[in-house]
Amino acid sequence: MSITPYGAMRTHGAGVLRRDDVGTDVRLAGWVATRRDHGGVVFLDLRDRSGVVQVVADPDVAADVVEAAQRLRDEWVVRVEGAVRLRPEGMRNERLGTGDVEVAATRIEVLSAARTPPFPVEDDVEAGEDLRLTHRYVDLRRPRMARNLALRSRALSVIRRVMERHGFLEVETPQLTRPTPEGARDFLVPSRIRPRESYALPQSPQLFKQLLMVGGVERYYQIARCFRDEDLRADRQPEFTQLDVELSFGDEEDVYALMEELYAELWRDCLDVELPTPFPRMTFAEAMRRFGSDKPDLRFAMELVDLSDTLAGTDVGVFAGALADGGSVVALTVPAGEPLTRRELDGWVDWAKARGAGGLAWGVVEDGDGATPTLRSPLAKFLTDDEVAGILAACDAAVGDTVLFAAGPTDATRTLMGALRVAVADARGLIPTDAWRFVWITEPPMFDAEVDRAGRPTGGWVPNHHPFTAPGEAFVDTFDTDPGSATSRAYDIVLNGVELASGSIRIHDADVQRRVFRFLGISDAEAEAKFGFLLRGLAHGTPPHGGIAPGIDRTIMLMAGEDSIRDVIAFPKTQSGACPLTDAPAPSDEAALAEVGLRLLPEPSRSA
Ligand code: ASP
Repeated sequence: MSITPYGAMRTHGAGVLRRDDVGTDVRLAGWVATRRDHGGVVFLDLRDRSGVVQVVADPDVAADVVEAAQRLRDEWVVRVEGAVRLRPEGMRNERLGTGDVEVAATRIEVLSAARTPPFPVEDDVEAGEDLRLTHRYVDLRRPRMARNLALRSRALSVIRRVMERHGFLEVETPQLTRPTPEGARDFLVPSRIRPRESYALPQSPQLFKQLLMVGGVERYYQIARCFRDEDLRADRQPEFTQLDVELSFGDEEDVYALMEELYAELWRDCLDVELPTPFPRMTFAEAMRRFGSDKPDLRFAMELVDLSDTLAGTDVGVFAGALADGGSVVALTVPAGEPLTRRELDGWVDWAKARGAGGLAWGVVEDGDGATPTLRSPLAKFLTDDEVAGILAACDAAVGDTVLFAAGPTDATRTLMGALRVAVADARGLIPTDAWRFVWITEPPMFDAEVDRAGRPTGGWVPNHHPFTAPGEAFVDTFDTDPGSATSRAYDIVLNGVELASGSIRIHDADVQRRVFRFLGISDAEAEAKFGFLLRGLAHGTPPHGGIAPGIDRTIMLMAGEDSIRDVIAFPKTQSGACPLTDAPAPSDEAALAEVGLRLLPEPSRSA
């Protein structure tokens, strides 16, 4: 015998009934979504995971069902028996899959009463997120949430199918472990059996997956939960899910091909969209130069233009000053439509200042009496005709376009203009919402200059990816003597300006790994204490290997068209890391703390 499709209590799902089912006797069960009493005839919308169907308690069909239906309240769980019939002409509902039919009840049985729901179970719910998360079990009944969870489940099964097709083994790695540095703080789990010692929850399975390669697994994947204790800026979760992947005896091309197949299959299977593959590739340097970001949104053009050569001899003081200091002048052309108004321009200047820039300059391209276009700009009087012509040519700017300029240290200026590019395009509605533009970003710097909390350089270096990433082949000998020039063999997948996945070819040589640690200021003794197991592993016969880890939450969020990853996670935390449903985190019992060798510090005084 096999399991029944809808459970032994039911013959059908509410949402599956169609015209073809007219005349069929059905048993349904689900939640009362709405109830309308039309003087003697009661209409119910019955909801289950498959959708909604109208149930009619009609005295002409069965007298006692009307009374039963009148007693029902929203979100009660009921079982309904009856026959499917066609709705009367004029009563059909085209927006509903089941809109042609209704179920004429012969019996209604209450399985569970329910309290009045804290908010209506509707897609366009206005309830605040705290309330929704407190009663997540109710929130999850909203069709949109049900759809998101179904999408997630389907995506996971596509992922497994693709990985299995290519011989990847699903292997689970520990959650109670040693710290794995991915740039965040660790969550610690104090040990009772070894008081005053702690496990760390993995920031990623990075070290284990590498050791699986040493262990001859060759191709590994895991739908892995990762834990990072970060200040929860933006849309982050302290625990999140990655598809963690590692392969041996391959290189970047294997990873690229695998991921392109995977994303294409996800989009085809879940969204019915054909993604063009292979994805374009762009080096980190090119992305920064053209888009001022290592996460370029390629749904629209508006590329940055470097005017440093065009303006090499400029009289504009701020430009000349920046160029003399070795910086750049970078421009962004906002295509016509309506040229930006003075108010908008002032708004963007303030926007730039709020980001620490000295300001922005601007020029609107105007028709120079039908001859050569001119630039209407507060700077115009300082620019020669040749410079204006050079700017217009370099920016490919036409009449009606607005050109925005910033000057300063090259990297910072590009980053500023890259952010401005997205903000202006967004504000002007220039970003198509129905496009999927994937791109590989390759050859990032191996290290970034370390900054302190105030953003000031400390003179030290931190890995751009993580410390297990292999240097570019040309930099193996020099990354520690000329760190600013070295690129690494890391890569990212960016979709519509969002980073979806990061990975790299790894260091498989223990000596090179030691050199990286040393360069990062990790002494041999410290490296031994923290990563001795990895270094020993690497010394025991390590195949060249590499991998990647696409973020699942974010991928599903984009696929579902949601704005927050919290809408695609069943039980997410709030922005402040709390779970209003369970009230986690919660104070610990002193005795339990004592068992693990801990005692709480006095609460910091509020006035401090
Ligand atoms: N462990 C990396 C991360 O979690 C991904 C990778 O390098 O495969 O970002």
